[in-house]
Amino acid sequence: PQPTPPPHVLLVPFPSQGHTIPFFNFAKLLASKGVAVTYVCVQHRISSLQRDHAAAGLNLLIRLVGLPERVPVGQLGIDEGTGSLSRSMEVAANMEDDFVQLVHELRRAVGAGAGSEESLGAPISIIYDPFLWWMHDVAVSLKIEYYSFFTSPASLLSIMLHLPILISQGYVPLRMSAEPRLITLPGLAPAWDRELLYLFSDSVTETSVQRLTHAAIKLSETAPTVLINTCYELEANTIDVLQKYKRIPQTKIDVQALGPVLPLELLNDNNVDDLYLQEDNRKEERECLRWLSSRSPDSVLYVSFGSIFIPSLESILELALGLEASSHAFLWVLRPPPGVASRDQSFSLSALLPEGFESRTKGRGFVISPWAPQLSILSHPSTGGFLTHCGWNSTIESIFMGVPLIAYPQFAEQKANCRMIVDQWKAGIQLQNDENERLRKEEVEKIIKILMEGEEGKQMKKNVRQVRDMARSSWKEGGSSYTNLQALVQKLFKLSADLSPEAVS
Ligand code: UDP
Repeated sequence: PQPTPPPHVLLVPFPSQGHTIPFFNFAKLLASKGVAVTYVCVQHRISSLQRDHAAAGLNLLIRLVGLPERVPVGQLGIDEGTGSLSRSMEVAANMEDDFVQLVHELRRAVGAGAGSEESLGAPISIIYDPFLWWMHDVAVSLKIEYYSFFTSPASLLSIMLHLPILISQGYVPLRMSAEPRLITLPGLAPAWDRELLYLFSDSVTETSVQRLTHAAIKLSETAPTVLINTCYELEANTIDVLQKYKRIPQTKIDVQALGPVLPLELLNDNNVDDLYLQEDNRKEERECLRWLSSRSPDSVLYVSFGSIFIPSLESILELALGLEASSHAFLWVLRPPPGVASRDQSFSLSALLPEGFESRTKGRGFVISPWAPQLSILSHPSTGGFLTHCGWNSTIESIFMGVPLIAYPQFAEQKANCRMIVDQWKAGIQLQNDENERLRKEEVEKIIKILMEGEEGKQMKKNVRQVRDMARSSWKEGGSSYTNLQALVQKLFKLSADLSPEAVS
């Protein structure tokens, strides 16, 4: 008999970096288990993956497919500013028809026995991002099995599943100017509504709130299997509620934590801490790693706010002065606020920084723009702390590398992530704005010193390493994420065997 072909799945992320990167890592993880993957997103996202990541670990089982651009791409080719959630939503809205057409084409090509399409076989399942609010209905109409892959923490999934209740109790849509209310959801520590519900607030455009609400309600109504980019050990209480007790009314969702989904070479363990030695980075990235290698162990603060958030010009100045005053070494990913660079052709980054800053911090500071090899930096022994906006990917990457954090959360679910980092794991300290919501250099300096030189900082480093060990253990043979991934892969192979022409005939 013919050997069973590898199961062929379509992976479809929401089109922003914080989603495309974990989806890409997930593609590599599945391919390493013999699953064939067609990874589908708009073309500029595919190009940026090819530019930043593809050299590491693409294989014959992964095919990247770019859908046509129907919304103009941002000037830097990466996300810019908080408005980009709405823009990504527009891009996502425009993906629907092209995606449906692609699936039809793939099926036709297999039917006609054509070239490379045939080699991966017909897709048997879609693993999609639940932020793509339209995808569930598309999967149903295409009569294809589906799973969701949720790139955010279980806590946000829990909030999304509670949304019908939160709406009925008047919490959503949230008005940020209203009197703050405490929310207690099962499996989550009590928190202020504005910390938990930003995505469903009037800080986000009405259309985005509607689309996300639609996505959340679809999730709770349709009871798909949701694979989450977290591990049991990191969010045990929340996952217990989601999984075992099924205490969320009206949902029978099946939740499988199989993260943190990081590049394969990290999860396979042996060279976890040597990522920075790999040579596939771009020139300026190699330079920054070389500079890092010239610094002593644990001495450098890495400063980066992910792919979306860019501090205001005023905050950039305060941050710079705080970094300078702290006397510690720093590696800072700096991007101009939206519009600043495009107004001025001869724009240089120096224009964003205080006068004389670069010469005064020469040697001790390294500024890189617009993008840094974050994982390599976090894996580098010189990196001793990470000043972050608490995006979920940045959070789990730092935890996995055992780097303590300075948490400066901004939007989306970042404030809830900050509570996990600071209160639950005690792996970091929060940087707060003053009472007028302004970042102050004195506060920056103080918090850096606490993390990088104080006893408290030492304790945070110990704590983060304990959390790191738990997260890493989930990927060891028999560990929680390892086991959940095996089960998923087995299901996909079984489904493929059941759907193969021999089985059907
Ligand atoms: N990232 C990177 N280099 C940068 C900035 C970000 O590699 O200069 C990566 C980072 O490692 C993470 C992702 O981009 O994987 C950002 O995702 P996160 O969830 O932290 O934040 P978001 O961009 O969604 O706000």
